[in-house]
Amino acid sequence: MRIGLYPGTFDPITLGHVDIITRATALVDRLVIGVAINRDKGPLFTLEERVAMIEGECHKLARQTGCEIVVHPFENLLIDCAHDVGAQTIIRGLRAVADFEYEYQMVGMNRMLDSSIETVFLMAEARYQAIASRLVKEIARLKGDVSNFVPPVVNAKLIEKFA
Ligand code: ADP
Repeated sequence: MRIGLYPGTFDPITLGHVDIITRATALVDRLVIGVAINRDKGPLFTLEERVAMIEGECHKLARQTGCEIVVHPFENLLIDCAHDVGAQTIIRGLRAVADFEYEYQMVGMNRMLDSSIETVFLMAEARYQAIASRLVKEIARLKGDVSNFVPPVVNAKLIEKFA
């Protein structure tokens, strides 16, 4: 069974993430979405809220694609999380050059920790490539319209948060 781990903070899940998740479902039999607890980063949404929003989006996707999608919060090392869930592959989304630098280092170091786990990079469709959770939150905080960047349920949650 091919198991892929797609890790991130998902604070909150965006249409960019959904695009990557959709693409990943074509590559694996089970996709584990690893939600980094990231207490230090001070996420806007609690772990429970982030997980609920991801599960809400993935329910339909799993049915449509036939890929099993599991949401798995984690606080340990990414490589250890991959071992815990039995993933052979780590899936990451790649946006701009800025992502590349960081991802390049991550792959290099993770490979030294465990060379059997491969990292696969996917690119979202062009219109979703610029979307970043950090900017979505910034726009929503200033009462801007983020409905083109996040699923409707997430949009409603953001409006509620900043009301
Ligand atoms: P962000 O960087 O937006 O805060 P995460 O840390 O949750 O989001 O990112 C999880 C993964 O999803 C990372 O590999 C990141 O590069 C990828 N990702 C996030 N947004 C996009 C996007 N718009 N297109 C492609 N990949 C993305």
